[in-house]
Amino acid sequence: MNGKFVISLDFELHWGGAEIWDLQQMKDHFLDARKAIPATLREFEKNGIRATWATVGFLFAKDKEQLMDFSPINKPSYVNNKLSYYNYIEQIGNDEKEDPFHYGTSLIENIIQTNGQELATHTFSHYYCNEEGQTPEQFEADLKAAQAIAFENFNIKLESLVFPKNQYNHSYLEIVKRQGIKVIRSNPNVWFWQSSYGKLTPVLRAIDTLGPISSSISFNIKDLENQNGVLELPASRFFRPYKEKESRIQKLKIRRIKAEMTYAAKNNRIYHLWWHPHNFGEDLKQNLNQLREIIDHYNFLKETYNFQSNSMSDFI
Ligand SMILES: [Zn+2]
Repeated sequence: MNGKFVISLDFELHWGGAEIWDLQQMKDHFLDARKAIPATLREFEKNGIRATWATVGFLFAKDKEQLMDFSPINKPSYVNNKLSYYNYIEQIGNDEKEDPFHYGTSLIENIIQTNGQELATHTFSHYYCNEEGQTPEQFEADLKAAQAIAFENFNIKLESLVFPKNQYNHSYLEIVKRQGIKVIRSNPNVWFWQSSYGKLTPVLRAIDTLGPISSSISFNIKDLENQNGVLELPASRFFRPYKEKESRIQKLKIRRIKAEMTYAAKNNRIYHLWWHPHNFGEDLKQNLNQLREIIDHYNFLKETYNFQSNSMSDFI
């Protein structure tokens, strides 16, 4: 028995928030995000880090025609129809070369070719499972499309899923299983994730980045829930990106992540860190430096306590 270090990344580019993110203002950010992916992959490969890349299905498309071909007929009927990203397809470019913000086949190729990396799904359309107006049938059609395009273009069956915006819908597990998914990322088992404190919640989550270490942030392998063959693997912590205006808390943030990793390694627990590759676009150099610091610490814990790196599907 040993502790395990899990990393999952929500790979989405502009599809992570097309209704709120002004692309004109964020082009450089996403171009940096695209540079961050190969750089992250190199660090992972060099250090034997296994990671899960939960990728939006739209990014798998070779071009607009293929994206429309694979789009399900039964699209999400959210009450807030701005959340249906099918509404934006008309405005995007034709392929990755023309529009690197909405297509990602070369980056997906890069992920697949890197040792130890798992290509996984973040649904086809960045689907919101708890949004008013959508139906179980629409969710199933979405996951089906994600599997179909992954198989068509990369010959891969996706086995792990990360719910967009972490909108975890327990009653959808049956659908998830039917569509070939064996592991999902669930939310951390701590009070501010379980209950809603409205506007306060994000603030409380941010403060927690700096507060005392709670043992509930890492977890025991025997406490993992396995519902009808779908394993729920809780996230431990969001790796907050480096931001110039938050420079004062950076040392504390990293110290805290390292302390939590050490706790997991010493007590044979699982520590699951996640982020979006585009978060590194905030400041590519600083974020890569912080990632290296975390990986160095992982290497130390591996030597000392046999701490192991795992992707989500390693738990199947
Ligand atoms: Zn997302």
